[in-house]
Amino acid sequence: MHNCDFCHIRDNPHEGVIAQTAHSIAFMDKHPIAEGHCLVTTRTHHESLMEVPDAELLDLFKVVARVEKAILAAGLGDGVDMRQHFRPYLPEGKYVKRHVHVHLLPRRDGDDVFTQVAVKEMGLRTEPAEKDLFATASLIRKELK
Ligand SMILES: [Zn+2]
Repeated sequence: MHNCDFCHIRDNPHEGVIAQTAHSIAFMDKHPIAEGHCLVTTRTHHESLMEVPDAELLDLFKVVARVEKAILAAGLGDGVDMRQHFRPYLPEGKYVKRHVHVHLLPRRDGDDVFTQVAVKEMGLRTEPAEKDLFATASLIRKELK
């Protein structure tokens, strides 16, 4: 799809890409709410999970499970939350991406992930440097091999 950030990453993979399969691609979230926060998307542009064909769904969730395991192996969390949003009612400018994706959020006991979600959604975030995101991507990639 034209002007889709996730299709752009698929076509121009950068150092933040963690894994690629026939149907899926995983990469660091540019606006992380925890270190190691990454996204897994379908290679084909679909607006919602509800329209993804079964073969792509299976591949997507296989990648989700592999990356979740790698996040834990890399020591980025003691657990992982998986989130998937379908909020077409929000304007595009409010972090909405109209390309289906699953968030993987490393978690630790007593962390501030839910506070950070609120801070992000209120637009009060300061973003990390790209080099830090790429360093974390490298950590996770090593655990996938
Ligand atoms: Zn797309």
